[in-house]
This record gives sequence, structure tokens and C-alpha cells, in this order.
Amino acid sequence: MNVTTEELQNSNEAAPSGDLCSVCGQDLRQGIHRSVDGLAACDSCADRVELFVKAEQPAPNALPRALVVGAFGALIAAVLWALIAVVTGYELGLIALAVGYFAGLGVRVGAGNAASMFLQVAAAGLALFGVLAAKYMLVAYSWREAAMAKGITLSYFSEDILTAFPEVLLETFTPYDGLWIFIAVTTAYKLPAPIETRRVD
Ligand SMILES: [Zn+2]
Repeated sequence: MNVTTEELQNSNEAAPSGDLCSVCGQDLRQGIHRSVDGLAACDSCADRVELFVKAEQPAPNALPRALVVGAFGALIAAVLWALIAVVTGYELGLIALAVGYFAGLGVRVGAGNAASMFLQVAAAGLALFGVLAAKYMLVAYSWREAAMAKGITLSYFSEDILTAFPEVLLETFTPYDGLWIFIAVTTAYKLPAPIETRRVD
């Protein structure tokens, strides 16, 4: 949920989003207007949303679980990405959306359905990790295949692949990769977004 509470200027005009509180239906043409997620709200309803926001903050001991579940979600989607690329021969970059979604959802669920800025940043970081993990799986797969053709067996985490990966990544980086990272990171970032409150006097 992405809700903002915004106090509008005291005026006799209706709030831009309507002249009735969208929660309780109270007439808002008198006094201070606030809005929740762009919808007009009266003071007391906006206050209740603010209380809800505080209740939404994750418990400190929920953070490690949020990171683990988020990383798990990102990796599942990364494996899916790599599998589809290997099976079809096409790197379906839009799966970046799934990487971001599962990273963000994992963080949110792992934190006990909490939301905070920290969780958003964690989700974004894990989404980036997921995209890089998918890239790594594809690089490792092709290196393994090439080595196997020469009768050499390489492990997926062989030192050769691990050390070469950053260079291969930079050399083969395309604007599309930038786009997939952007999609994954922004998708993940939105999922554990708190209800933000803002007052403008
Ligand atoms: Zn109200």
C-alpha cells in the first residue's frame, strides 16, 4: 500500500480530490483538508492512518527474516530467469519484474507484513542481487558448457568463473541490462513502502 497523508492549505475551496472525506464522508469544505493517497480525508481519519503507519513499522527482530525471505524470493525468480534463457535460448529480461516482485514481496512477508524505508532499500538491494545472480547463472552455464566441450568439468562456483564474472558482466552489459535492473529495483522498492505522512502548513 502506498498512501500519503498531506495537509492541504486551509481554504474554502474543496480539496482537489473531493469535498467529502473519502473515509467517513464528513464535509471538508470547512477547515483544514488532508489527503490520504490522493483522496480527501478529514483530520481524524488522517490521524488514524498515521497511527496505522506507526503500527506498520517492522519489529527489529523481523529484519533478518525479511532479508532472508527477500533473498530467497529474488533467487527463485533469478533461477527461473536463467532456466528460461537456457531452455528457450532467449534471455527474457522482463522476468526482472518477477525478480523485483519476489524480492519485495519476500521482504514484506518476511518482516511480518511490515513496511518501512529500510525494508524498501533492502528490497531494492535484493532485487539487484537477484538480477546479478541470474546473470551469474547464465555466465557460469555457458562457461561450463564451453569447458565441457574440451573435456573439462567446472563447478558452478569455480574460482575461474567467480573471478571472471565481474569482467564478463561489464563487457557484455547492454542498455537492456540497465533497464532490467531499473525495473527490478523499482518494483521491489515499492512493495514494502510505508504510508507516508506529510503536513504542509
Ligand atoms: Zn473522515
